[in-house]
Amino acid sequence: SLNGKTAIITGSNSGIGLGIAREMAKAGANVVLNSFTDTKDDHALAQEITDVTGVTARYIKADMSKGDECRALIEKAGACDILINNAGIQHVAGIDEFPAEKWDAIIAINLSSAFHTTAAALPLMRKAGWGRVINIASAHGLTASPYKSAYVAAKHGIVGMTKVVALETAEEPITANAICPGYVLTPLVEEQIPDTMKKYDMDRDTAVREVLLTRQPSKEFATVEQLGGTAVFLASDAAAQITGTTISVDGGWTAL
Ligand code: NAD
Repeated sequence: SLNGKTAIITGSNSGIGLGIAREMAKAGANVVLNSFTDTKDDHALAQEITDVTGVTARYIKADMSKGDECRALIEKAGACDILINNAGIQHVAGIDEFPAEKWDAIIAINLSSAFHTTAAALPLMRKAGWGRVINIASAHGLTASPYKSAYVAAKHGIVGMTKVVALETAEEPITANAICPGYVLTPLVEEQIPDTMKKYDMDRDTAVREVLLTRQPSKEFATVEQLGGTAVFLASDAAAQITGTTISVDGGWTAL
């Protein structure tokens, strides 16, 4: 059980991050939810997790596009045994039309944020004598698709950084790994469906099956609960010698 551990999940008021927070709490960890929004609903999510599981769940606002706020998130939490770098955004456009500010935002939120949070969290893990860094990369951390230059670059980047963190902590009771999901039906993916329908002139079901899930041989979305379960496994004692690697949860995508 993860009783007494504190898990910080960046970008966790929605989608995969929230799913991971719920599974971490079910496994006994105290959790810190994060986003840049700081709404009533954000705080209510933390309260709901406490009500359901009995763990301490808190919400801390921090904008993952800003390095100093990434570091402040860890400092405000006060403890960080399990760091889950999950915050991420997407933008789909050909590289010659890709807005430079979208490129910068994706690199900042999907990649640089993990550099800053990891730098701030490692001293706390070393003091506690135990730690887990779990980076939410993507099948796009291992393979590419057209029109996703910034996302693919950031996700390949975070897979590389994961290996470096694993090597720098190899002789300590700290591990660093990346989870590489295929398609998971979250708001991030929902937003791509209308564009895909328009681009290929397809109805929703056809666009989902023929375009989104074309590279996911299972033809099923992975679920946020499955991602949460994978993160809980990586935090468990069974995974103590798993470090510097990736775990794909992609219905066979990267086997193709
Ligand atoms: P989502 O849009 O549901 O969630 C994204 C989260 O990031 C939200 O909680 C949002 O508040 C947060 N966020 C965005 N910008 C932020 C910022 N500047 N500061 C703080 N928080 C911010 O998306 P999701 O699908 O749950 O994606 C979560 C992660 O999983 C991302 O890194 C994404 O790349 C990755 N991923 C998703 C899929 C998928 O199919 N959904 C597949 C592979 C990888």
